[in-house]
Amino acid sequence: MTPLHAEIAALITAEGPLPLDRYMALCLGHPRFGYYLARDAIGTAGDFTTAPEISQVFGELIGFWAAATWETMGRPGALRLVECGPGRGTLIKDLLRAAGVLPAFRAAIDLHLVETSPRLAALQREAVAASGITATWHADLGGVPPGPAIVIGNEFLDALPIRQFVATPAGWRERVVGLDGARLAFGLAPDPIPAALLACFPAPPAPGAVAEIRPAFGHLAATLGARLPDGPQVALFIDYGHARHAYGDTFQAVRAHAFADPLARPGEADLTAHVDFAALGEAAREAGLAASRPVRQRDLLFMLGLEARTQGLMQANRKKARALLEAVERLIDPAPTGMGTLFKAQVLHAPGLAVPAFDS
Ligand code: SAH
Repeated sequence: MTPLHAEIAALITAEGPLPLDRYMALCLGHPRFGYYLARDAIGTAGDFTTAPEISQVFGELIGFWAAATWETMGRPGALRLVECGPGRGTLIKDLLRAAGVLPAFRAAIDLHLVETSPRLAALQREAVAASGITATWHADLGGVPPGPAIVIGNEFLDALPIRQFVATPAGWRERVVGLDGARLAFGLAPDPIPAALLACFPAPPAPGAVAEIRPAFGHLAATLGARLPDGPQVALFIDYGHARHAYGDTFQAVRAHAFADPLARPGEADLTAHVDFAALGEAAREAGLAASRPVRQRDLLFMLGLEARTQGLMQANRKKARALLEAVERLIDPAPTGMGTLFKAQVLHAPGLAVPAFDS
């Protein structure tokens, strides 16, 4: 039993079963025992590997994209460059190096990193140090000062807590985490669900269908929307997920690069769920932003010049050429569950702005 298991069990005994978003927020962000708080979970030695950890090309291409986006924003002299959930800082390190191709862009960067984990913030500080650019850390996007901004989040949204609802003969019921003896167990809350909450899902659901929503999208979009009066805003999010509202239980735990039971060792496994990009787009529009269609990671990387960059690197490092190519191929893997198609990118932006690679 993990220390967090004991705390959660006591909470359930006192207050009743917990909705999934509460459980997920505790497991990931509990101030003492939360998964991200003290752990370096990312990379081959950790629990999961992300695109920037697979190949430097990923962060570099996003750097080229950010430079081009800054130009379409009218080359603001001070740009808040923000990364949400920077992990080990690899993406931002590669991005800042690539930003050197456009010195005026690099000079305009005022770097802000949104991170809740002190351990990861320390790694980010090391990663950024070599660039000579100073960064400021925030626990929430709301802490970033006003002004034109480019916000980037890779595998950030999937860590934001979800709520789940199950279609029963009596109507939708919320899935909760309760106790079965000492064990944590899923259950359903007895209360009916206001129909408006799930109005965006195709009706009628098949019996047993699971619908997921991510309440934090509202806050995220409102925070971005509130920045609009102080200059153009562009936010790029890349994550695994689906382009349309779809039923399905995507709540998952990953530990040591394998799927695990999300209730088995709270605080010791990464908990995530797929991103509903349609829901993110709707939250953005409600907050006064425009939202692009989600594009597959594979298509985005090709549009940003993947082939030329990969070839350049392979020629410069002939001994590592094969490894470089294999890593890039993983990022664009076209199989249904491969990174190239499962991962999608979407931009939320000031209405009327033509964002490079998303202007359709
Ligand atoms: N972007 C990185 C890391 C992804 S892991 C990469 O691609 O490698 C998720 C990251 O989001 C971690 O840095 C984690 O600490 C951070 N995080 C999770 N929930 C967060 C929250 N609510 N606010 C800010 N950061 C959060």
